[in-house]
Amino acid sequence: MLLACVYVTGQTQPTTKPAVTKYPELEKMTPGMTEIWEPEVPIIQSGTTNSDAPSDAIVLFNGSDVNAEWTDMQGNPTKWTIKDGTLVSVRGAGFIKSKRKFGNFQLHIEWKTPSEVTGESQGRGNSGVFLQELYEVQVLDSYNNRTYRNGQAGAMYKQYAPLVNVCKKPGEWQTYDIIYTAPVFGNDSTRYAVSPRVTVLQNGVLIQNNVVLRGPTEYIGIPEYFIKKHGPGSLELQDHGNPVAYRNIWIREL
Ligand code: MG
Repeated sequence: MLLACVYVTGQTQPTTKPAVTKYPELEKMTPGMTEIWEPEVPIIQSGTTNSDAPSDAIVLFNGSDVNAEWTDMQGNPTKWTIKDGTLVSVRGAGFIKSKRKFGNFQLHIEWKTPSEVTGESQGRGNSGVFLQELYEVQVLDSYNNRTYRNGQAGAMYKQYAPLVNVCKKPGEWQTYDIIYTAPVFGNDSTRYAVSPRVTVLQNGVLIQNNVVLRGPTEYIGIPEYFIKKHGPGSLELQDHGNPVAYRNIWIREL
């Protein structure tokens, strides 16, 4: 701006002002200008309780036929048993996996560790919910049962401890509501372009708040060493040798 005021000696100062560009006056804002009406938000029906599947959910276990939606890891009928309408892990039967594969989702699942308490630390009521076959939300009897904090119930196994321990007593039903955002990959198949994220509520209480995963959850080793490009994946439930029961499993694809 200073330079604009300096004139070389002998030059005459301009007598006309530069033209000022005029813009049309903006229309006065009204409330309606920021209202979006279309398309209408989809209408669905929620259940009577949080355990009930909303009308747009896929029911993955409703108390009877497990083989409708699940197999063992080889694609055969699972040896997990149904007892009183619940799905119970059987030692040595291995993980089970959903026939369907999922990307982003909201998952509701209820679980119960054995009322007869045996073992300690990771050996008590251990199972797990694996998201896209790679990322374990730990299931464990963490009621009066210390273990490493990033391996207790509700942990993103060995990556994030739960914010609080809100576990009920063994033998009581507990809920996980899990919101999962799948990773995005670019050209590099060994790195996330956008990392996967997880939010978990246990028994209605927030225990994982949109945490950013570093890689698949690993028993041994640093997670980021194990990243490999992947697309949609199954849900898996872990057989860790303890008869953990599941019920009311439903999922909403996002
Ligand atoms: Mg586990």
